[in-house]
Amino acid sequence: MKGLFFYRKEILVPKGYARAFEIEKGSRITIIDVDGGQVGAFVAFYRDRLSESLSPAHTRLALSSVTIRVKDRLWSNLLRPLLEVTENTAPTHDLLMPACDGLGGGPSAHHSCIGNFEGALAPWEIPRNQIPEPLNVFGNTRFEADGTLVRLPPASRPGDRLTLTALLPLVCAISACSRAPGAGSAGKEKISGIAVIVSQGSAERHA
Ligand SMILES: [Zn+2]
Repeated sequence: MKGLFFYRKEILVPKGYARAFEIEKGSRITIIDVDGGQVGAFVAFYRDRLSESLSPAHTRLALSSVTIRVKDRLWSNLLRPLLEVTENTAPTHDLLMPACDGLGGGPSAHHSCIGNFEGALAPWEIPRNQIPEPLNVFGNTRFEADGTLVRLPPASRPGDRLTLTALLPLVCAISACSRAPGAGSAGKEKISGIAVIVSQGSAERHA
């Protein structure tokens, strides 16, 4: 292990809250659904130029897909790859839905994902109107044959995880959405939220 660098930090994001953090190029972010059925809205910004951010629209364009798989890269609004998917056990993720903003009968603005992001990203002075649409980790959407877009309850199970590897230094934020994800989840309140493990290097690797 001599000469190797290993870093690991765990962050718990309770349902209805967001946490933000900086990561270095090569770091891994493992996003874990603690209880199952919890959406984690994820946004990321290039740390050296915060106006460049993860863009679901550009990612859909680059992948020709509305979802993500292992080895896919996640692209910025300047069409540069910011992250790569390196592990996934969850059946679905969503690249189509905006972050909930407390409008239109959702949760109060205080507990919306946009409000959560605004608070969590305040140390980087990222204003509300620069918060991009998120990757909805564990989100579950489906197209009907007539083009109708349907938002379904997350299909993720307890312990499901998505790991992203940073290709550039980033500022990231994750909000454990408190919005009811669909009629099927009514009454199934979860409290644990999302666990995040940020790591760099490998504890198992030998020099
Ligand atoms: Zn939300």
